[in-house]
Amino acid sequence: MKKGPFVQGLRCRECGRGYPAEALHVCEWCFGPLEVVYDYEAIAASISRQSVAAGPKTIWRYADLLPASPDGAVDLGAGLTPLLRADRLGAELGLSDLWLKNDTVNPTGSFKDRVVSVALTRARELGFKVAACASTGNLANSVAAHAARAGMRSVVCIPADLERPKVVTTAVFGGVLVAVNGNYDEVNRLCAELASEYPTWAFVNVNVRSYYAEGSKTLAFEVAEQLGWKVPDHVVVPIASGSQLTKVAKGFREMFKVGLLDEEPAVRISGAQAQGCSPVAAAFDSGADFIRPVRPSGIAKSLAIGDPADGAYALDEVRRSGGAVAAVTDDEIVDGIRLLARTEGIFAETAGGVTIGVLAKLAASGVVKPNERVVAFITGNGLKTLDAVAAECGPTVTVAPKLEDFQAALGVADWQ
Ligand SMILES: *Cc1c(COP(=O)(O)O)cnc(C)c1O
Ligand SMILES: [Zn+2]
Repeated sequence: MKKGPFVQGLRCRECGRGYPAEALHVCEWCFGPLEVVYDYEAIAASISRQSVAAGPKTIWRYADLLPASPDGAVDLGAGLTPLLRADRLGAELGLSDLWLKNDTVNPTGSFKDRVVSVALTRARELGFKVAACASTGNLANSVAAHAARAGMRSVVCIPADLERPKVVTTAVFGGVLVAVNGNYDEVNRLCAELASEYPTWAFVNVNVRSYYAEGSKTLAFEVAEQLGWKVPDHVVVPIASGSQLTKVAKGFREMFKVGLLDEEPAVRISGAQAQGCSPVAAAFDSGADFIRPVRPSGIAKSLAIGDPADGAYALDEVRRSGGAVAAVTDDEIVDGIRLLARTEGIFAETAGGVTIGVLAKLAASGVVKPNERVVAFITGNGLKTLDAVAAECGPTVTVAPKLEDFQAALGVADWQ
């Protein structure tokens, strides 16, 4: 079945003006961002828990609520990642009903595969032949991979100081990889210019951003489905541009609108940032409703957006839901990565350390309550930021290949 018809068009988030569902992303009247508008009545008539369950084991099981057709999707299998109960981590943090959404196992190791699959599927429908983006790392990786899969050319732009594994895992796909001497916000400005210079290129997070953003809703859809069509009490979501957090909130609301949830969801949403780049946490703390841009520093490079496009919307969702936004230091990020690995067997990148660090902080301060059902989003794989923990993680001991040496070095005889 063709799913395109459920999209009615685009609408300005600020002034409400309508636009056709084309490669447009800002309102020409007020410069507000454009959002996809759906025919929810028609979706409600088409979708059911059964139809979802019978769908593919990817984000495309939710095609009715996505802005592109699943037929011929640019698909590496993103989504339907494990939702794991985390009793051991929960015990450390004083939380009795903690769950982890493990997006480290997506095709290119981050949640970005969700948004890129949607963006490039729509881009191809719109006739684009070249995939492009401004990236803090994971997006470049995912765009290059999905473009290779689709037989599209790719041009991805990254800050030149990116972690080496993210450079290698992007370059291997054979597209054009441009390292820019500047931070992400400067790369993004360059790409905004490029997008008007090269209108036949689909910049997934610039000129097709409205479609891209919709991919993040699948995190909310899957979590509720995996909890038996119930929403959690509280989710903790990392914030870079703020798009993921904003769309997760939208996703929960849409599920109710189309009849997948019995009750109107009341999910508290909290945001996680690194202190090296915490403009949304700073606004939350000061009570401001605008975001003051910062110059990013620190090890959480995938979240290093100093001027977050959806920061104010994310802040608004957090406040309306009764959540909080908090930030953690680089040391706390490393502690978070190691705590998660040690207690639950998941190796996350620095963004995951941010989420776990902030979860720990919010649990300690009582914002996250001991008996709430909490889901923390672990959005990227630790193999991409090895250096963050490399200094602390090596062999316990090095021995000669002899039993006596082993036994002398390691007092493990009591580990029966
Ligand atoms: C991009 C990214 C995010 C958050 O992205 P938003 O821009 O806020 O949507 C979170 N985690 C990882 C690992 C990312 O790469
Ligand atoms: Zn407008």
